Amino acid sequence: MSELVSRAVGRFAPSPTGPLHAGSMVAALASWLDARARNGRWLVRIEDTDLPRCDAAHGRMILQQLRACGLESDGEIVWQSARTDLYQGALDQLASAGKAFACACTRQEIAKHWHVTGRQWGRHQEIPYPGTCRTGLHGREARAMRFLTQGTGTIRWVDRRLGSQSQCVEEVVGDVVLKRADGLWAYQLAVVVDDAAQGITHVVRGEDLADNTARQILIQQALGLTTPQYLHTPVVRSANGEKLSKQTGAPAVDVSDPVRALHEAGRHLGLRPDHSQVSDQLSAWVKAWASQWVTSAAD
Ligand SMILES: [Zn+2]
Repeated sequence: MSELVSRAVGRFAPSPTGPLHAGSMVAALASWLDARARNGRWLVRIEDTDLPRCDAAHGRMILQQLRACGLESDGEIVWQSARTDLYQGALDQLASAGKAFACACTRQEIAKHWHVTGRQWGRHQEIPYPGTCRTGLHGREARAMRFLTQGTGTIRWVDRRLGSQSQCVEEVVGDVVLKRADGLWAYQLAVVVDDAAQGITHVVRGEDLADNTARQILIQQALGLTTPQYLHTPVVRSANGEKLSKQTGAPAVDVSDPVRALHEAGRHLGLRPDHSQVSDQLSAWVKAWASQWVTSAAD
């Protein structure tokens, strides 16, 4: 029984803004191998809180692409759009503990705050929230709900591939949005709530998401949740150096030849098939890689 309780649980959590592309395939394979190497469970979660950008048809297509490659969730597929009650419960918990507050600020007002102080921010730089509404709305209308980062200091964690990491969220990001002005749940809250609800012990995801880790650790701590271990996989770039993403028009993974699709993802992770086991059989590739993963990445 205790063995069951302590079993590792990994997950793959794509946003259904398009079909699975080569970049997301790498994260899917890495998280799956990591769970397999630990004799753990691997769960799939569709992160569709950003309803205007997401499409259930893309979600179903991603699941079908994964299935074609032999990557099947060991539990029920979770769709975040159906879990509003859980996120509301977490928000209520944070608000009643004084760790979440209503914010009336528009993007322009936040930018104006820094403009007045003379601090400059690059066009693509995140403008930190200056804490304007921490003392109340003063008659303004609530738009979003934010997480109070005041006094939280520098968050440190160890990424299994990137090593020691640190970020002062209060300075770099400011008070993190938990519920957006358009009423949608923010990614940061939904991820934290679901990782805990699903008992995730090992998060393996693309390096483009590494920057979110400190925010998520802060929210986990405020909710009294355990922090999982993190491993961020190398980002896949196109021939011209651009990160592969739906926004840059990355093509869908061709799963008509699943062994090839997995081989390409595995090569990106530095995995080489054991030549004594070379075969067209999917199971043989995966077996060889899972044993390599144990010695290379698993700790
Ligand atoms: Zn505000």
